[in-house]
Amino acid sequence: MEQKNNIKSYSLSELQQIMKEMGEPKYRAGQIRRWLYNDRASSFETMSNLGSKLRTVLSSRYSIPSCKTAEQQHEFPADTIDGTTKYLVSLHDDMEVETVLIPSVDRNTVCVSSQVGCPLRCTFCATGYMGFSRNLNAAEIVEQVYLAGGKNPARDISNVVFMGMGEPLLNIPNVLEAVDILSDKRFDFSIPQRKITISTVGLVDGIDHIARSGLKTRLAISLHAATQKKREQLIPVSKEHTLERLHKSLTGYTDNTGEPVTLVYMLLEGINDTSGDARRLAKYSRSFLCKINLIDYNSIVNMDFKHVNSEKQDKFIEILVDAGLQVTVRRSHGASINAACGQLALSEKKAVPSARYHS
Ligand code: SF4
Repeated sequence: MEQKNNIKSYSLSELQQIMKEMGEPKYRAGQIRRWLYNDRASSFETMSNLGSKLRTVLSSRYSIPSCKTAEQQHEFPADTIDGTTKYLVSLHDDMEVETVLIPSVDRNTVCVSSQVGCPLRCTFCATGYMGFSRNLNAAEIVEQVYLAGGKNPARDISNVVFMGMGEPLLNIPNVLEAVDILSDKRFDFSIPQRKITISTVGLVDGIDHIARSGLKTRLAISLHAATQKKREQLIPVSKEHTLERLHKSLTGYTDNTGEPVTLVYMLLEGINDTSGDARRLAKYSRSFLCKINLIDYNSIVNMDFKHVNSEKQDKFIEILVDAGLQVTVRRSHGASINAACGQLALSEKKAVPSARYHS
């Protein structure tokens, strides 16, 4: 029997092309997209505003697979309503990614994955040690939000961050298509773009692309060091995407969008935590619109990194604040279930090999 193609693997413009080739008007593509992503239809038969002939042809050529939750882990016992929840999400080809729901007093944030694994191998990140399998399509990104939101994402989910497995700017077309679906004002869940954050280790071409795109999403950069040598040791791809070039991209981004970028800086004992490091970070950051988000290191099995004590942390913050920078300190969520930053690695299934930082 002929293999059916996954209808959700097509972008809106590709669906429009398919409709054109079938002799249908362009707006049918929008109708199908609404059935798939707003009504979450699992068969073409339910798409009542499409003609019966079109439904039959679509059913014979295309399938409508959906992602499923294979497992979930709560930070606190399952009968409590707060606490981080990590979902193991099974994709249509049985590959898996992790998704994290982080509830707080005023928002519910879903941290989504954009790739199965990641090719960039940052030394502090468990995902990097998994290797890379493939990019997620837009539907697989969107459905992580559905799964974490339960029956009613419109009520439950207020924010989405692309901080799960993978580097979103290596998968720009699908990430942008997912943002377009999640923020579609005609759909029930309609998450405003300003509540969607794309996080990157600083791939400059992707940042330049977003700066020009007119998107209203927020941008977060995993900076982690303000000297080229230290940054290369933590984030190998920064050899090509240098601090100097990144500075130019971030200046362009903030000039174009008028929005600040968030510079995420993970404090690592003995590596990037001195007063000198804080001063270099202040110098790097003060010429463009930004805020600094300091985060704690979340331990990963077999890795040598250590988190920084509160005295050193306070000194670091003081230097940044004295330099006039806006600083927030993010409390770690989900560390006890390996759901915090840098810990996502299908950890029950794949052990992270022994890793060392070479200074
Ligand atoms: S930090 Fe991000 S870019 Fe680096 S290896 Fe992990 S998932 Fe990939």
